Amino acid sequence: MDFTLTPEQVALQESVRKFAQRELPDIARAIEESDEPVSLELRKRYGELGYLGVNLDSRYGGGGLSHLDAVIVLEEIAKISIAVAFPIFESCFGPCLAISHFGNEQLKDSILPGVCSGEIVVAVSMSEPAAGSALTDLTTRAVIDGNTVTVNGNKRWCSGAGHSETYVVYCRLSDAPGAKGIGAVVIPREAAGLSFGRREKHMGFRGVTSADMHFDNVQVPIENLLVPAGGFSKLMDAFDLERCGNTTMSLAVAQSAFDYVLAYTQEREQFGKQLVDFQAVQIHLAEMKMKLEAARLLLYRAVVNAAQGLPSVGESSIAKCFANETVREVTGKAMQLMGGYGYSTEYPIEQKLRDAWGWGIAGGAIDIQKVNITSALVGRRFNQRAK
Ligand SMILES: Cc1cc2nc3c(=O)[nH]c(=O)nc-3n(C[C@H](O)[C@H](O)[C@H](O)COP(=O)(O)OP(=O)(O)OC[C@H]3O[C@@H](n4cnc5c(N)ncnc54)[C@H](O)[C@@H]3O)c2cc1C
Repeated sequence: MDFTLTPEQVALQESVRKFAQRELPDIARAIEESDEPVSLELRKRYGELGYLGVNLDSRYGGGGLSHLDAVIVLEEIAKISIAVAFPIFESCFGPCLAISHFGNEQLKDSILPGVCSGEIVVAVSMSEPAAGSALTDLTTRAVIDGNTVTVNGNKRWCSGAGHSETYVVYCRLSDAPGAKGIGAVVIPREAAGLSFGRREKHMGFRGVTSADMHFDNVQVPIENLLVPAGGFSKLMDAFDLERCGNTTMSLAVAQSAFDYVLAYTQEREQFGKQLVDFQAVQIHLAEMKMKLEAARLLLYRAVVNAAQGLPSVGESSIAKCFANETVREVTGKAMQLMGGYGYSTEYPIEQKLRDAWGWGIAGGAIDIQKVNITSALVGRRFNQRAK
């Protein structure tokens, strides 16, 4: 078992890191201030650099590289901020991977090249006001009539809502109960009858829009049917890869907080010596480092084992869950080790702590992941519902 990156991967990592450190910090600060998403201009720049759709097929403008290569790119950008990394996250790990795996040729041709050039961001609309963890309670309805699909219902918490150009919308496509009736439809932002609620304000995730979505007799051609009723497990298979993107974002936030505080503890002096000379500080740093290394290995295992395909639910859930807990712990410790400076908005750690928390809710809450892990262990799903 080889745990080292290839020379090509090391070169990729270094070039993305250089770009990110040179060009993104000012943009990230401006986004944090304004709460406005990444500009189309920067998205196109990412496209030119090959940072979008790293792991998508080169036939559609993607990089044709591995999921691990995509992890490498995403991590370096997300170390600057999750907002500047969001279009990369969506293009390499988001719902366009479901389009790439399950979409018909027309759908792939009309969307994926735009994703890879930066013109299109695809967001996922799964959650609803009464269907969060209990996702299979969703009620948004899609009816097929001839060559048209008509969608009615409401979605909540969609990251990118109103800003993203295209949405993969989970819908009830038949009367079959629970997961059996669920499929997904691809809906463009401009579709008549689609409207967005007011912008939600999160604790972190500034620069990543979130809003309710209302579908009022929205009609799209049958080619936009991504997955018919009965395809919920396929959608969840693709979502296993999204979990690896969530894991990468968590890892990047944690790693960058750690890097910052490691340097800080070697600069700041109290009682006439560097903070790092206090044994309690050393222990905190070691604990942070141990968690980071473990999170990285779990992530790499999940994506490397997936090769060009999709990761297993067990490995992706273990990686996500561990990284979600790690990023909360590491950013919390980083803040504490910086004392008053950690709590100040003049320093980067408080933003990292705010951004950190969301990942353990987005993409399935931590405790739900733990249920998935045990479910994979015993090889059966557990019924969460009242009898
Ligand atoms: C930053 C962020 C980004 C998001 N982006 C998107 C997006 O792009 N698209 C989208 O569709 N949704 C998105 N979401 C929504 C997210 O998927 C849901 O918030 C999440 O699935 C939890 O659903 P809920 O908020 O309704 O919480 P609930 O389902 O009400 O759960 C609340 C808590 O109850 C506990 N709980 C519930 N059920 C169980 C159970 N069976 N076993 C154990 N504990 C349980 C858990 O601790 C859970 O955290 C995002 C959320 C956040 C915070």
